[in-house]
Amino acid sequence: MSAEETLQQIASEVSACTQCSLHTTRNKSVPGEGPANAEIMLIGEGPGHNENEQGRPFVGAAGNFLNELLAQAGLKREDVWIGNVVKCRPPGNRDPLPEELSACDKHLERQMAALNPKIIITLGRFSMAKFVPGAKISQVHGQMRKVNGRFVIPMFHPAAALHQPQLKTTILADFGKLPDLLDVARRELGQPGPAVVVPKEELPKDDPKQLKLF
Ligand code: SF4
Repeated sequence: MSAEETLQQIASEVSACTQCSLHTTRNKSVPGEGPANAEIMLIGEGPGHNENEQGRPFVGAAGNFLNELLAQAGLKREDVWIGNVVKCRPPGNRDPLPEELSACDKHLERQMAALNPKIIITLGRFSMAKFVPGAKISQVHGQMRKVNGRFVIPMFHPAAALHQPQLKTTILADFGKLPDLLDVARRELGQPGPAVVVPKEELPKDDPKQLKLF
């Protein structure tokens, strides 16, 4: 089965999934979307109101801001795969419960295996905790590290950054480093890919030597 077929199969299973109580209150499940050959996989927390209505991840204001962040890295939404740690909306946007995270993790693990992305970007504390337990986002945001053979970059959640001007500046700068970090990941994995073309003048002024690689 190709990666695309596997992802479609998982999406179909997610739409009918009843493995945690969130299925009783969802309108539409949100399996995630993007090309099967995406080099970058973004993982958020869970669907909100708009996502629950449309069955798509990161729509609405946070989604628009995410598109802006991707543009900062010379990327379009269609270039990346976007999903969440839980595929059904927690009622009232409450935090997902441990048993819900655990039940839904098998879908995410299979998606990661099918995509085999060069970089995973975590958006928010629940996806960060999956890869970097105990980390503080204020200390690790924008820094790439290798976790179980995969490159992971924790980022602030776009919805949080949207409402805090100082975080907005930070997350824009973090996404601006992505082309350099993607080049590092490609070299380390021995898989040179197509260049992400970002005019130098659009990149943040940060010294690339400051990029941290763990
Ligand atoms: Fe299934 Fe995940 Fe939805 Fe729970 S949140 S019902 S595990 S798809």
